[in-house]
Amino acid sequence: MAKKILIIGAVALGPKVACRLRRINPDAQITVLDRDSVISYGGCGIPYYVGGDVADIEGLRSTQSHAVRNQKFFKDIKGIDVIVEVEAIEILRKEKQVRVRYLKENNREELMDYDKLVIATGASPVRPPFPGSDLPNVCIVSNLHHAENIKAKIAQGKVSKAVVIGAGAIGIEMAEALTDLWGVETTIIEMADQVLPAALGKNVATVVQRQLEKHNVTVQLSERVEKIVEKDGGESMTIITGHGEIDCDLVVLSTGVRPNTTLAQEAGLAIGSFGGILVDRRMRTSDPNIYAGGDCTEIRNLISGENMTMPLGSLANRQGRIIATNINGGSSHFKGTVGTFCMKVFEMGVATSGLSYHQAIRVGYDPAIAIVSQADRAHFYPESEVMYITLIADKKTRRILGIEAVGKMGDAVKARVDAVAAMLEYGVEVDKVCDLETGYAPPYASAMDIINNAGNTLDNILDGRNKNISPVCFLEEFKEDPNIRVIDVREKVQVEKLVEKYGDRWIHIPQEEMRSRYNEIPTEGQVFLVCDTGTRSYEAQVVLVANGVTHTRHIQGGMSLIKVHDPDF
Ligand SMILES: Cc1cc2nc3c(=O)[nH]c(=O)nc-3n(C[C@H](O)[C@H](O)[C@H](O)COP(=O)(O)OP(=O)(O)OC[C@H]3O[C@@H](n4cnc5c(N)ncnc54)[C@H](O)[C@@H]3O)c2cc1C
Repeated sequence: MAKKILIIGAVALGPKVACRLRRINPDAQITVLDRDSVISYGGCGIPYYVGGDVADIEGLRSTQSHAVRNQKFFKDIKGIDVIVEVEAIEILRKEKQVRVRYLKENNREELMDYDKLVIATGASPVRPPFPGSDLPNVCIVSNLHHAENIKAKIAQGKVSKAVVIGAGAIGIEMAEALTDLWGVETTIIEMADQVLPAALGKNVATVVQRQLEKHNVTVQLSERVEKIVEKDGGESMTIITGHGEIDCDLVVLSTGVRPNTTLAQEAGLAIGSFGGILVDRRMRTSDPNIYAGGDCTEIRNLISGENMTMPLGSLANRQGRIIATNINGGSSHFKGTVGTFCMKVFEMGVATSGLSYHQAIRVGYDPAIAIVSQADRAHFYPESEVMYITLIADKKTRRILGIEAVGKMGDAVKARVDAVAAMLEYGVEVDKVCDLETGYAPPYASAMDIINNAGNTLDNILDGRNKNISPVCFLEEFKEDPNIRVIDVREKVQVEKLVEKYGDRWIHIPQEEMRSRYNEIPTEGQVFLVCDTGTRSYEAQVVLVANGVTHTRHIQGGMSLIKVHDPDF
């Protein structure tokens, strides 16, 4: 067993390796170093500190029993040496040494020995190359200093308008933090044509966008920032985009992160094509005496088989435990990830796992998608809210590829996604989701849980019984093609305005009359069936097929999703 363990990086992965190793090996000499002064904190809590849900920044650095995780804590409680404000500048693999620089001691250098080295250097936020991205009031958010800096600017009353660049998870969380507590007028600018482009398909991403807008966050999509210029002597700024200008006092950059691999690269360790350190299943780098994990590494996507970077604290912690076990002579494997993620957007929960529809196509699958909207509890129970789930499977093999869920009850959304996430790596077929056993009580679910319904819908789609179109595709086609007809099977009162607006393009045949009026369905051109959520329009389609009318498609998610995408409907 290795005696001297040196760990570079002391936020998530580093301390996890150190603490687990100490628990299983009382004799190892464990040293953790970090170039920062603040260590072992919950970076994921930063938006909640900025937004005031976490009142005290120490809360992000404390244990459940309120002990602050500083050097003294690690020394006294864990028997681990932590050295801060020390930068690792070179790894001498042959000598098994790391050259470090003491940043607060005139950059004094020293060589530190190791038997096993762990690289836990994380990732750094990307500052886009446009002019002005380095101005003083253009902030990044990756550590507690950044969080304090942003909060201080707001608390001084200097920020009334903010722009967040990037509608990924951190950008959205920061927009919520700025708007919610501080009432800062906030705009998110995103290059893609949807929010959360790396996580969600557009059908449900728009639900998240509307949630932001409902809370007064302006969302500008398909917009590229060209430059940021200072005005009023640097007190405020103007963002110049491809389509206009926005004035603001603060910019938060949320444009992705890049793995910190300079040390590893210069030491000749293998780096992957996504820019992360390559590790094997035991989390060893190309040098068996050096382990790496967390945001600085690449990991395997267990569905696509491709490598990827996935900067998540949840993965860093799991990997840290595995590294400690292996350093101690054990044999523990990290196979990879299916990419499970969750977040809160005001009072809405968002969770995903696996591949989105477009990601599935990109890696060579021919996917089918089910989009289900259903009450998150028994429909008769008071206060039920709509939950949206998309479930994606490969048409050829019926293998489940991914799931996305959005709804008011964040815990319920996460529970559905976690249940499917646990199965994804095993390549299960859609039938397993149809049969998934879940608990039922009216305050929590329907007797036929939404997750089973999503499985059943996808099963019907794969078997060719359910012919459909997504709301996003329907709206595109409806605007393009004036010959498209929509058969609305809802009650008269719900349909009247649309019939008036669209004339003979919007035809009302209530579901209960479909058996007697099926011969009124236009025989030429594209015909779509619609109801509130997609359930009754599918049932109407079944009736039509039984009567020989086979050319209709029903709109998944129904008017509830169409209205999300286009409030004019
Ligand atoms: C605002 C925000 C919100 C987030 N929310 C979530 C969430 O909700 N869920 C989730 O799963 N994840 C979330 N994350 C991601 C999560 O915080 C990271 O995945 C996790 O911190 C990665 O841990 P790590 O140990 O690999 O790297 P890091 O936490 O980045 O730590 C790396 C450390 O290494 C130090 N270092 C780097 N190079 C050197 C060197 N040469 N010498 C010495 N020290 C060095 C750095 O100073 C740093 O302290 C969030 C991140 C942010 C910023």
